[in-house]
Amino acid sequence: MNRARLLIFNAALGPLDYRVPDGMQVEPGSVVVAPLGPRQIVGIVWEEDRLPTQSVPDAKLRPLLAVLPVPPLKAELRRLLEWTADYYCASLASVARMVLSSGGALRGPATTIEYRLSGGMPERLTPQRLAAIDALDGEQATIRELSGMAGVSEGVLRGLVNQGVLEPVEVDCDRPYPPVDPAFAEPELSPDQRDVADRFVGAVKQCQFAPFLLDGVTGSGKTETYFEAIAQNLRHGHQTLVLLPEIALTEAFLRRFEDRFGAPPIVWHSSLKSTERRRAWRAIAAGTAQVVVGARSALFLPYAKLGLVVVDEAHEVSFKQDDGVRYNARDVAVMRARFENIPVILASATPALESLQMAQTGIYEKLVLPARFGGAELPSIDTINLIEEKPDRGRWLSPRLVEALKDRLEKGEQSLLFLNRRGYAPLTLCRHCGFRFQCPNCSAWLVEHRLSRRLACHHCGHETVPPDACPECGEPDCLVACGPGVERIAHEVEEILPEARLAIVTSDTLNSPEKAAQFIAQAEAGEIDVIVGTQLVTKGFHFPELTLVGVVDADLGLEGGDLRAAERTYQQVAQVAGRAGRGAKPGEVFIQTRHPEASVIAALAAGDRDAFYEAETEARRHAGAPPFGRWAAIIVSSEDEAEAREAANRIGATRPNFDDVMILGPAPAPLSMLRGRYRYRLLLNARRSAEVQQVIRDWLGALSFPQGVRVAVDIDPYSF
Ligand code: ADP
Ligand code: ZN
Repeated sequence: MNRARLLIFNAALGPLDYRVPDGMQVEPGSVVVAPLGPRQIVGIVWEEDRLPTQSVPDAKLRPLLAVLPVPPLKAELRRLLEWTADYYCASLASVARMVLSSGGALRGPATTIEYRLSGGMPERLTPQRLAAIDALDGEQATIRELSGMAGVSEGVLRGLVNQGVLEPVEVDCDRPYPPVDPAFAEPELSPDQRDVADRFVGAVKQCQFAPFLLDGVTGSGKTETYFEAIAQNLRHGHQTLVLLPEIALTEAFLRRFEDRFGAPPIVWHSSLKSTERRRAWRAIAAGTAQVVVGARSALFLPYAKLGLVVVDEAHEVSFKQDDGVRYNARDVAVMRARFENIPVILASATPALESLQMAQTGIYEKLVLPARFGGAELPSIDTINLIEEKPDRGRWLSPRLVEALKDRLEKGEQSLLFLNRRGYAPLTLCRHCGFRFQCPNCSAWLVEHRLSRRLACHHCGHETVPPDACPECGEPDCLVACGPGVERIAHEVEEILPEARLAIVTSDTLNSPEKAAQFIAQAEAGEIDVIVGTQLVTKGFHFPELTLVGVVDADLGLEGGDLRAAERTYQQVAQVAGRAGRGAKPGEVFIQTRHPEASVIAALAAGDRDAFYEAETEARRHAGAPPFGRWAAIIVSSEDEAEAREAANRIGATRPNFDDVMILGPAPAPLSMLRGRYRYRLLLNARRSAEVQQVIRDWLGALSFPQGVRVAVDIDPYSF
C-alpha cells in the first residue's frame, strides 16, 4: 500500500501518516489536503526517514483528499527548512509555514474578486459606509482586506455591493509580469567596479555555491556591481532574490532597478495585498518571476530555479527576526545558497564582525570597493564634545552644529540630523508629583508623539491621548517632556531656522511606499532643506546636494550595554555619515557626544575603520562572544508573574553541566514585561565548537510546562 507522511502546521499534532488513494500522484514536497478529525488541513509530503513519528498500522490510515496544483517543494528547500528548524531550535512545522505563508494562494481558482468604487452613492450614508468608501480611495481590494482597512464588518461591505456602490473586478493571479532585460541599459563601470563585477559574473556562470562579502565604502556603487551578477543570472534564465532590510528602501531600489533592467522586479513583503501576494507566490513557484526583491520572509519562498541571492546592507539588525522563528535572514540566505548550490553576495559598507571573520578565515571571498564612484570624497568627520560645547538650555543642538546648519541653508545645500528615537520625547512626567507614564503591558515608558497627539509604547503599540491633568495627583498642565526624539529636534530646527523646509523621516512618517517615494522625490528636487530622521535615514539614500550630517547623540546606542552596542553605533554613524557629500560638493559630519574618548567614537572621528574592528575583535574574543564563542538565550514568559518565575527557576534547576557551555540566570529579561507577559531569561555562552542546540533540545525536551508558559529559544541573539 502507498503511504505518505505529512508535515502539518500544528507541531503538537504532527507529523501524520495517510494513505495515498489509487491514481493519486504524490512525491516528497507535494502540497496536499488531508482530513484531520472533521476538518481539512494542508500538509507537505515529507521523506518518512527524515520525519520520525509513531507508525500507524495501514488499516487505520485515512486517505489523502487532494494534491494542490502547485509544484512540489524542491528537496533543496526542504533541506533548508530542516536546517533552519534544527539550527534555531524551532519546530519544522513553524518554519515550513513560512513557505506557504500566502495561505489562500494554494487553493481555489487562479482568479480573485476585488471590489472598486462604481461612482454611485449609497442610499443612506452611515459613518461605516463612509469609512469603507474613504478607505478604498481609488484602489481595489477584496472584501476581507477592505473590512480590515476600513474597520467595518464584511456585512456592511456586502450591503454596499448589493446597492452597486462597490463593483466586482475579476483579477487574474497568473497575469504575467513585464519582462526584465539584462541588456536594457548597461552602465560604464569604473575599473574597481569592473573587477568586482567580473568576479560575480564568473561565479554566476559557474553556478555553484560561492559566498561573497562585498565590502565597499558608502557611495562606491555596490549596487551597480551586483546588478551585473543579476544580468548574468537573467541570461541563464535563473531567478534572483535580493533581500533588503527595510521596505522604505525598496522604492529607491525599484527605480534604480527599472532604469537598469527596463522593468521593475517583483516585490515581496508582509504587507502586500493578498492578490499581489498570491500572484507573486505563483510566479515564483512557476519560475516566471525573474527577480524578487523582498524583506527577510522572501527567503523561504519556493523558487523554481534560484540562481543567485543578494543580501544588501547585510549588516542590518532588521535581518534578525525576533519573534516566531527567531532566525537571521543573512545567515539563512547563505545556507539557502549552499543547499541550492549557487552564489550569494552579502553587500555592506560596514560588515558585521561575523562576516569579516568568515572572510578572514577564507570561507567567504571578500571583494573590496575602496573609493566612492565618480571621485567623490568621503566626508570629513568631527566630534563635538557636548560637555564643552553645550547646547542652550532646553536645546539639543550645539552652537557649532547650529552654525553649520545655517551655513548650509544659506548655500542652498541639504542637511541631515540623525537621532535614533521616534516621537517627541522618550519620557513624560508630572512636574508636580513625579508621576511617569508607563505602558500597562510592558516595562517601558510611553513615548510622546506630538504630531499625532498621543503617548505610545514602542514595544506593544499601546496608545493613549495625553491627559490635561496628571492621572496621579490631578494637577492640571503639569506634564513635562524629558529627553529628545526626532520631533523635538525638528521643533528646535524650526525655532532656529524658521524658513528651513523640514522633513521628519521615521517609520511613522514613511509608513507606505507612496510616502517613501514622495519623500525621495522632494529631497531630490531640492524641496527639503533639513531632514531629521531615525535609523531609517542611515541607509541607501543618495541625495547629491546633502553636504552636512549631524549625529545628535552618538552615545544613545552605547548606553544599553548589550553585546552589539559598539558595533551597531559604529555602523549607524558610519552609514549616516555616508549620506554626506555623495555628489560634487564635499560632505561634513559632526558627531555630538559626551564621550569623545570612547574607542568607537574615536575610530569614527579618525575614519579608522580597522582600529574599530580590531578593538571590537579583541573585546569579543575576551568575552567569548561571536564570532569567537556563541550565545543563546532561553526566554520564559507568562501572563502570570509567579508562573513565569517558577518555570524559569525549574529550567535553571535542571541545567546540564558542560565544560564548554556556561549558563547564566535565570534573571528578569531586560524588558521584564512585554505585551502583558512577564519574562525571565537564561543566557548560554558556549565555545564555538559546542553543540548548543543539542544541549538546549535535550534540556528543555525533558521538561514540561503549564499551558500559559511559553519557552522561546534565541540562537545568536542580537539584543539582550
Ligand atoms: P553604495 O550602495 O555602494 O553606497 P550606490 O550603488 O548607491 O553606492 O552608488 C552611489 C551612486 O553612484 C548612485 O547614484 C549610483 O547610481 C552611482 N553610480 C555608481 N556606479 C555607477 C556607474 N558605474 N555608472 C553610473 N553611476 C554609478
Ligand atoms: Zn507596551
